[in-house]
Amino acid sequence: MTQVFKFGGASIRGADAIRHLGRLLADFPERPLAVVISAMGQTTDALEALLGGGRAGEASDYRNRLATLRRDHLDVVDALFGSEAAPVSRRVEALFDELDALHRTHANGERPLHYDQTVCFGELLSTTIVSAWLEASGIATRWQDARELVVTDACHQAANVDWAATTERLQRLRRDDGRLLVTQGFIASTPDGVTTTLGREGSDYSAAILAHCLDAERLTLCKDVPGLFNADPRRFDNAVQLDHLSYAEAIELAWHGAKVIHPKALAPLQRKAIPLTLRSFTQPRAPGTAIDADTRHDGEIPVLILREGQTLLELRPRDFAFMDEARQHHILGGLVEAGLHAGMIDAGAMRLSLCLDGHPDYLEPLVAAFRADYRVTRRDDLALLTVRHGDAALLEALSEGRECLAERGNADTAQRVFPGTRCRGRWRIPN
Ligand code: ASP
Ligand code: MG
Repeated sequence: MTQVFKFGGASIRGADAIRHLGRLLADFPERPLAVVISAMGQTTDALEALLGGGRAGEASDYRNRLATLRRDHLDVVDALFGSEAAPVSRRVEALFDELDALHRTHANGERPLHYDQTVCFGELLSTTIVSAWLEASGIATRWQDARELVVTDACHQAANVDWAATTERLQRLRRDDGRLLVTQGFIASTPDGVTTTLGREGSDYSAAILAHCLDAERLTLCKDVPGLFNADPRRFDNAVQLDHLSYAEAIELAWHGAKVIHPKALAPLQRKAIPLTLRSFTQPRAPGTAIDADTRHDGEIPVLILREGQTLLELRPRDFAFMDEARQHHILGGLVEAGLHAGMIDAGAMRLSLCLDGHPDYLEPLVAAFRADYRVTRRDDLALLTVRHGDAALLEALSEGRECLAERGNADTAQRVFPGTRCRGRWRIPN
């Protein structure tokens, strides 16, 4: 029974982190083991910036960014392999040459296709370096191109998985040779081999796809935090780790913006009852957070999720008309077309409120379109607080000194929108 591990960008940020990863995997005796890896550190951001420079025709900006990325990766190779670096450096150089050529090929083509053909290199580079390092440290390793495993449609930058085709390819994969399989998160391909990506932070999802299709015994996501907390400890005093929660509760938290896990990663695990563990990369023996079908621990303590940089839109029909189903359908259809997600939706007789955190490129045209049909009020720079399993007293304590601009709630979830300026700095969770 296969175990699947996933390591994010922070856990392979540099040579020391990669050495640590090697020791961690050497200590893990069970095989077969499949390891899914993200791009190193902030590489995906850097590749997006490179794409921007390339498409804007800013040749010197593009060349500088490419040179920096190349140097950063080669420095890691040198630090790891020393006098033995040449064969790995050559592979890394070849990937950079290929990346540069693909930028030239796609520079004037459609952006989403161009994005996928080039931003995928972060994971190709990281897995090349990491698998060479594991091999050099005595762990028999097999580098596998994820684009030969994960089959998707051609919806670039947010590709949809073809589960039947992916299962077939993964089941055909030989796993009994005792070698550790190292593959990329985030990247996939169409049936005819055009590279696609699964959306930012998609490596968790890749790992869940592999676990699902391989009928894995468990998926472990190794993170730069010890597990899932009831609030982001970087922002909230008194935050505590959640030891155990159900798939359904984890989906709720991820959907509302808990950053530790990708919302799409949970359904493939739930469908096959594959348990998930979130663990600290630096303290792999600490208990972590267990996620499975058991719902008994859900709601034991309140969970708080804060999303900043939100925009609140309030749409009102003209002429004192109702915000009826037809108008709601029209408005939500606009969101779907713009590819935007509303973290909070609340309807009244003559109003629909939407709390969004979309990129201005998508948001601005949508707001302009809404203004043609509705009276629109808009406020930017807001924060959306979601509280699961809290009571009225907790909500009031958290709202103190903050003007509530919109709210909605049901039996287990309450949401409030506040001016962002009132939400900066640290929060305290009252005991
Ligand atoms: N490297 C990709 C990103 O940064 C995928 C991932 O890390 O999950 O979005
Ligand atoms: Mg990442």
